[in-house]
Amino acid sequence: MNILISNDDGIYSPGLRALAGVASEFGQVRLVAPDVEQSAMSHAITILRPLHYSPVRVGGFEAYRVDGTPADCVALGAHLWGGIDLVLSGINLGLNLGHSIWHSGTVAAAKQAAFLDIKAVAFSSPYGGEVPDYGVYAPYIRQVIRLIAEDPDLPLLNVNFPEAPNGLYWTRQSVRHYDGQVVSGTDPLGRSHYWLAVRPVEEVEEGTDRWAIEQGGVSVTPLRLDLTDEVGLRRAGIALDK
Ligand code: MN
Repeated sequence: MNILISNDDGIYSPGLRALAGVASEFGQVRLVAPDVEQSAMSHAITILRPLHYSPVRVGGFEAYRVDGTPADCVALGAHLWGGIDLVLSGINLGLNLGHSIWHSGTVAAAKQAAFLDIKAVAFSSPYGGEVPDYGVYAPYIRQVIRLIAEDPDLPLLNVNFPEAPNGLYWTRQSVRHYDGQVVSGTDPLGRSHYWLAVRPVEEVEEGTDRWAIEQGGVSVTPLRLDLTDEVGLRRAGIALDK
């Protein structure tokens, strides 16, 4: 199995190395990731300048840094390494739950693979400044790789780890609450500035990704690329028929 590994935290992120270590048990791995952090870049691609693909040393793995976004890395990595069976993205330093899926560069790398008809998984972990203990995630990463490799109906998964996992939970994306907020402050020169940040979401719905993390579960959410609002489409169709 040929496995391309990417992320949005950059080629030197410890999460990338941890993921590559587990993935290498399943076949050939190649790391292609941004040269600097690209968190919250979502699915941006670079079109106004060329990209560069440079070999680097990362934990004994074949690795390349790209001066682009996570989606650029997967597009370029897939172009230069044909016959990829699986793309893994992460392990992100920070969870990607609920609406964060839209902002996430980690998930975008996996989505780019899905665009190219390659199976993909995005992995994210909690991050409070200290690098997580990736050893406890390894058995679940193996389980998820086996799941996606064997099931033709699961092309794209978003996986989030709690600090101490107690099992695998199949979940839906929580969409009721948005945790984004703007925090204002003042810089040392007295100028106002604004930070886009997140706030804790207190209410969680059972069965969602956020809920699974609260229960100590590894949240696995199958994603799809079709954003069509089926109910809205049906309603519009009925209205047009009248
Ligand atoms: Mn990140």
